[in-house]
Amino acid sequence: MEHGRDTSKNVDVAWTHVKNAEKHGTTTTRKGEPYVQEIIVRQSELKRWTRCRRASYLQYTEGWSKPSEDSDVRGVGTHFHGLMAEYYGDVEPDENIKYNPDDVQTSQVMFDTYVSEMEETGMDAGQETVFVEERMFTAPIQVAGDTFYRVSCQVDHLYRDTAIVGEPLIGQDHKTSASFFNTADNDFQLMVYAVVLHDNGYPVEYMEHNIVKRNKRTGRAKPPYTQRNRIRITSEALDWWAGYLHTMCHEHFKAHEISTSVRSPQLYPVPDNTCSWGCDFVDVCGMVDEGEDYESVLINEYQKEGAFGG
Ligand code: SF4
Repeated sequence: MEHGRDTSKNVDVAWTHVKNAEKHGTTTTRKGEPYVQEIIVRQSELKRWTRCRRASYLQYTEGWSKPSEDSDVRGVGTHFHGLMAEYYGDVEPDENIKYNPDDVQTSQVMFDTYVSEMEETGMDAGQETVFVEERMFTAPIQVAGDTFYRVSCQVDHLYRDTAIVGEPLIGQDHKTSASFFNTADNDFQLMVYAVVLHDNGYPVEYMEHNIVKRNKRTGRAKPPYTQRNRIRITSEALDWWAGYLHTMCHEHFKAHEISTSVRSPQLYPVPDNTCSWGCDFVDVCGMVDEGEDYESVLINEYQKEGAFGG
């Protein structure tokens, strides 16, 4: 498969889709099949889409975000993920990523206590790593005659647990969090990852959140600092989730084909009490509905990056 945007205006049949694909994701074209378009959409974008189409469109399709002081600097979570990749998979950290020294220190302390906890509890006793930090895609999901979606995700860690009968494959996602949380038996992210892993020849029987408390381990912080929330992946659930993904991708594609702006009825908002703390677009959302000039606010108070969905 050949990756890269296909902007050939000679491909008439596909042109409308290509044009719209550029609004909502990276396209790839299969070699020797010029009329087939592939649109890559991230799991996180689909999740946002299901929560609120308007927010997803503004963030992922149009590429708006709140300006940060230094958008090149990554946080504790990214640094910690790098340490975990090194720990489980001997993957060298990316020297080009910039971090705040305070975040590096916090991440390092979190990591040191994580390793101690693994040794003390034997949580990883039967664990045999298959890979770390792999980006993967679902099998193509047809959304129109000549257009396919592929849902992408970055799998933090896949391992075989030899301490369990049957030595099942387990997919693991690391989370750094202020506090532990519950994971639903059909957690969106973990179920999508399970579908992607199965599509790539890794028949996981379990998925899990590997939650590590995000703090400096000062006197008031008390162990345990790690919690594993594991869910079972049944073949029935996999079939259902493959179906859900098809529906979501189809809806996503259809809405982008029809919509010309965020005011489109296809991109309806879903306001609720999480908007004020959970959405960067809460300031402009009401303006869209009230017919005000929300675009000026976006231009003046937000930054725009290339629309990205890969
Ligand atoms: S403020 Fe709420 S309704 Fe509006 S775009 Fe954000 S999530 Fe959607």
